[in-house]
Amino acid sequence: MKRQTELIGAGRHPDQHHGAVNVPPYRTSTVIREKAEEMVHRRGSPFDEVMYGRIGTPTTFAFEEAMAVLENTDRAAALSSGMAACAGAILAVVKQGDHLLVQDSVYRPVRRLCDEFLTRMGIETSYFAPGIGADIEGLIRSNTRLIYLEAPGSQTFEIPDIPAIVEVAKAKGIYTAADNTWSTGYFYRPADHGVDFTVNAATKYIVGHSDAMLGVVACREDLFYEMKTVSAMFLGNCAGSEEMYLGLRGLRTLAVRLDQHSRNALAVAEWLSAHPAIDRVLYPALPDHPQHDLWKRDFRGASGLMSIVLKPVDEAAAFAFADGLHHFGLGASFGGYESLVLPFDPTAYRTVEPWSGPGPAIRLHIGLEDPEDLIEDLDAGLSKLPAA
Ligand SMILES: *Cc1c(COP(=O)(O)O)cnc(C)c1O
Repeated sequence: MKRQTELIGAGRHPDQHHGAVNVPPYRTSTVIREKAEEMVHRRGSPFDEVMYGRIGTPTTFAFEEAMAVLENTDRAAALSSGMAACAGAILAVVKQGDHLLVQDSVYRPVRRLCDEFLTRMGIETSYFAPGIGADIEGLIRSNTRLIYLEAPGSQTFEIPDIPAIVEVAKAKGIYTAADNTWSTGYFYRPADHGVDFTVNAATKYIVGHSDAMLGVVACREDLFYEMKTVSAMFLGNCAGSEEMYLGLRGLRTLAVRLDQHSRNALAVAEWLSAHPAIDRVLYPALPDHPQHDLWKRDFRGASGLMSIVLKPVDEAAAFAFADGLHHFGLGASFGGYESLVLPFDPTAYRTVEPWSGPGPAIRLHIGLEDPEDLIEDLDAGLSKLPAA
């Protein structure tokens, strides 16, 4: 089956829901049983039967089943946000005294989790250059437990060589996790390259309309049990019924939306590349992107998120450019239908590979507007920059 077709049917069970096309949002905490014996002497996995709202409802099971189809894994665990998914994958396997290897261009709150929280539990993190490939072997210690990747880094867009890193990790018995939010399983499937945990901020393209917080970790059956036990049982993390309903609804149109984001983004990226005010465009689908060949080898497409690096101008000029755009909302996040702009400063957090400008960096999410309107808007703003 093609991915578009899979996404239409995944997790839907009309026969179990009075024929309703969509699995409804089950708003449930308590589940009433017929017999006391069933309550006290339960058998089987609690993650496969409706037992209690936090552990899983028919909405949870439908969303998790559909996400496992999207990411081509045995199972998927729904969580309350993308960040809960990042943390959930890490916490499923780490213990006191462990060491983590994390990509230098990782989503910033993950750095903070590692540096400010996991340190409290005696878990140490070191960072690796996104382009490290098989040389990651030199950074592995006897207590390295997990290698955490993001493909591409969601501000600076380096693509790590995941197959090369996974090969090293597997040989050493180390787990791997990859944040797949930029692609979703529609454009890239880390599990097909042997990654143990595929992390998604479903808040972004999967929900797709900027109206819910939702996260997912997709993995093998044995790791799923660990994931759910730690996240849902011990840490009390569960996704809301309405949010999972919106996640399921988003999945049905994910293919058409991502295909359109991709077309729009490529048109805008190509236009930006030729603009005299811009030093470079960071978008893996452009042939001059440093890891374009890796992207072409491993990915089926590119989504709507990219960054630009301006020619040298002061920060105030970059802020004025961002403030002046009409079609781009100034905002964090991405993956909704609308375009967004976000100035950022990689020099503030990169520790392995220092970032060099030369000018300010700005992230753009290319939405579903007509790209001609977006280009006109960007053109008007860029023409006011001194470098133009
Ligand atoms: C947004 C994002 C997250 C966190 O998702 P939330 O739903 O906002 O918690 C994690 N990773 C990446 C790459 C993201 O873009």
